[in-house]
Amino acid sequence: MVISGETLYIICKNLTDVFRAEKVLSEAGISVRTVPSPPKEAGPCSTVLEISGNDLEKSETLLKQCFIETVKVIPARAERTALLERLTGFDRSSAFSAALSRIMEGSPPTLPDLRVLLEAAGEDRQILWKAADNIRQACIGDVVDIRAALEFSNHCRRNCLYCGLRRENRKLARYRMTETEILDQALKIKEMGIRTIILQSGEDTWFTTERIVSLIQGIKKETGMRITLSLGEREPEEYIIFKEAGADNYLLKVETTDPALYKALHPDMSVVDRMEHVRMIKKARYITGSGNIIGLPGQDIDSIARDIIWCWQEGIHMIGIGPFIPAPNTPLEAHTPGAVGLTLNAIAVTRLVCRNAFIPSTTALATLDRKAQMQGLACGANTVMLIMTPPGVREKYMIYGNKMMVDLEWALTMINSLGRKRPSYITGAF
Ligand code: SAM
Ligand code: SF4
Repeated sequence: MVISGETLYIICKNLTDVFRAEKVLSEAGISVRTVPSPPKEAGPCSTVLEISGNDLEKSETLLKQCFIETVKVIPARAERTALLERLTGFDRSSAFSAALSRIMEGSPPTLPDLRVLLEAAGEDRQILWKAADNIRQACIGDVVDIRAALEFSNHCRRNCLYCGLRRENRKLARYRMTETEILDQALKIKEMGIRTIILQSGEDTWFTTERIVSLIQGIKKETGMRITLSLGEREPEEYIIFKEAGADNYLLKVETTDPALYKALHPDMSVVDRMEHVRMIKKARYITGSGNIIGLPGQDIDSIARDIIWCWQEGIHMIGIGPFIPAPNTPLEAHTPGAVGLTLNAIAVTRLVCRNAFIPSTTALATLDRKAQMQGLACGANTVMLIMTPPGVREKYMIYGNKMMVDLEWALTMINSLGRKRPSYITGAF
C-alpha cells in the first residue's frame, strides 16, 4: 500500500527506459531522481526512479503515453521506525537525535542536520554508527563485497596537490604494466574467485582509447569479470566507447565539491568539469562511483556535508570516502592526516542518506589504522578493495606513503570478526 506523499521507487525494465523516464518526468515538472536500486530489486537494472507518491498517478500516465514500461512501483521506506526504536540510549530531545530521526525517517538531507551528525562525538557517535549499521543491514544485507584493484600505471598528467603520483613529483619512479602483464594478473584475480576488477591508474594518455578498449575486451574475454575503470577524466566520447567495449563501472571521485578548495588543490582542473564528468559517466549507463577525501587542508564540516548531499542528489551508486594522508614529495607532505573518527562519521552519515549505495571501507582508512577499516564496515560500509598490483610495481603506486596492502586474508579476517558474510564467490580457505 502506498501512503500519500511517501517516497517511491519506479523500477523500469532497463537503463535506457530509466533515463528516458527521467527526461519525460522532469520535463513535465515532476521532481525525480535516478538513484541506486535497492539490491533486492536490482535485477538487471542498477538504477531506479525516485518520486513522491503524490506524483504517482501523473507519472504513470506520462510514462504510458511515452511507451515506457514499468516493472513495478515500491515504497522507498526501510522499516525506519523499527530501526529507530532499536537504538538504545536515544535521547529524543537533543539536536543530534532530532537530526538523526529526520534523516532515518527519510527527510531530504539538509546542511544543518548533516553538520550535527558529522560532528557527533561520545555516545552520540556510537548511536550514529549503530544507526548506519542497522540501515546497512536492512538495505544491503550482511555480505561484504570484495573487489580487486590493479594499479597498472603510475604516470599522471595532473598535479593534484595531495597525490604522490602528481606530475611534478620527480622523485617517483614511474611504471606502466604491459597488456600481457595486466591480463596475467587479471587471470590470477579471477582464480581467487573475485568477480570485479578495478583497473586504476594516474591520468595516463599513453593508454589511448584503443589501448584501453583492448584491455577491456581482453579481460572480458579471458575472465568474464566485471570491470571498473578508474582512469581519471577522459574525453566524453571515450566513456561511451569503453562502456560499449564491456566496462561496467566507472569510479571518478569528486574529491571535494567546495569550488575554492577544489581549485586550490587542483591547479589545472575545475570542480564544475569534475561534476560534469561524473554526470557523463552516469548518462553513459555505468554503475557510477564517486566520493570525497576527508581532512583535506582547508576543508570544514559544511564542505563534507555538501559532498554527501551532492552524492545523494546525483544518485551515485558507489561512494568512496577516505581520509587525506600526507604523501611524501608533495606540497602537502607536512600536513596532518584526516581524522579517523570524522571519516567514520562521514561513512555513517553517507549510509544513512544514500542507503542503497555501495560504500567501501577504504585502503586509505586501513593505512591510517588497520582496525579503523574494520570499524568502517561496522558503521555503514559494505565493500573492501584488495590491492592486487604485483610486487615490484605496487611499491611505486605511491599515492601516499606506507599504503596498507589489503589482501584477501585480512578482508576475510574482518568479515569473520564482525560476524558478517563473505560473498558466495569466495570459496577459499582462511
Ligand atoms: N587518477 C585517477 C583519479 O584521480 O580519479 C585515479 C587514481 S587516484 C590515485 C585514486 C584516488 O586516490 C583519488 O580519487 C583520490 O581520492 C585518492 N588520493 C590521492 N592522493 C591521496 C591522498 N594523499 N590521501 C588520500 N587519498 C588520496
Ligand atoms: Fe593523478 Fe589521480 Fe593522483 Fe590526481 S589523484 S595526481 S589525477 S593519480
